[in-house]
Amino acid sequence: MELVCPAGNLQGLKVAIESGADAVYLGFRDPTNARHFSGLNFSLKSARTAIDFAHFHQKKVFVALNTFPQAHNWATWRDAVDRAAELQIDALIVADTGVMDYACEHWPELRLHLSVQASATSAEAIRFYHERFDIQRAVLPRVLSLAQVQRVCADSPVDTEVFGFGSLCVMVEGRCLLSSYVTGKSPNNFGACSPGEFVRWTETDRGLESRLNGVLIDRYGDEECSGYPTVCKGRYYVDGTPGYTMEKPVSLNSVPILPNLLQAGVSAIKVEGRQRSPAYVRRVTRILRAAIDSCMRDPETFTPASDGMAELANLSEGSQTTLGAFSRYWQ
Ligand code: SF4
Repeated sequence: MELVCPAGNLQGLKVAIESGADAVYLGFRDPTNARHFSGLNFSLKSARTAIDFAHFHQKKVFVALNTFPQAHNWATWRDAVDRAAELQIDALIVADTGVMDYACEHWPELRLHLSVQASATSAEAIRFYHERFDIQRAVLPRVLSLAQVQRVCADSPVDTEVFGFGSLCVMVEGRCLLSSYVTGKSPNNFGACSPGEFVRWTETDRGLESRLNGVLIDRYGDEECSGYPTVCKGRYYVDGTPGYTMEKPVSLNSVPILPNLLQAGVSAIKVEGRQRSPAYVRRVTRILRAAIDSCMRDPETFTPASDGMAELANLSEGSQTTLGAFSRYWQ
């Protein structure tokens, strides 16, 4: 299994490769990718330097072009496809059928991966993208149980990639309207669930409050760690009781089921987090590298290293990890 790690900037990319990533994924400095935050991502110049560095170390670079263009801004996505192809990247991660069609027609040699944002939850959906647009790998949505992943892998005509560690998304990926309801900017078109200009933290008599476009997302007690405000991870009053109505701040950790994923035929494990620091990327990449190597050596006897699991828990949102939908036996 290939280890695919996030690169939010050039330093993050170097750290990921030096720490054991087989491939890194990055985005351009525009809304064409789903981590469009200020100070993040790559200019043409830095992308060229990054790709040279990765290829010198015989590692792959994937470019995420996984948001959805609208009628008035198609040229931005089209130009990003051209830029990525001219940079001679190893694969383009795409979600929109128009973008796929353009890439397929104008750059037939360019390898295409189906983004998680396309939400292909069945082998039949993947087959459609493969036959119509020559997709060579599909990143599976984080809403599938392990049994569903096994079923999709058994029938998929192409490689599959699943998330190994990082933030969860509880909605049908690529279709969430939560933050656009609050901010007017959709993560699917603009590239960020909570665009920075709408985020505010304020110290109040009742505690530290985080708001998104004026909407209260959470209020923290003295001992609590604050998180980046996202609508789906907010704490709200329901029937007078405060709680995480949609999703707790917790990170996915699929290390315990690596042998199952290997046996299912999963080709790559992805680490979420292009918005994270290079230090975070270094630690997570090293742990995942060691775990995958150990699992590949002997899947029968594989057990997650306890120190690595403890470190992953420390690096997690809310200091908690979960198997998420992988563990849903009823799906
Ligand atoms: S707001 Fe939450 S549920 Fe919606 S896309 Fe972002 S992470 Fe997913």
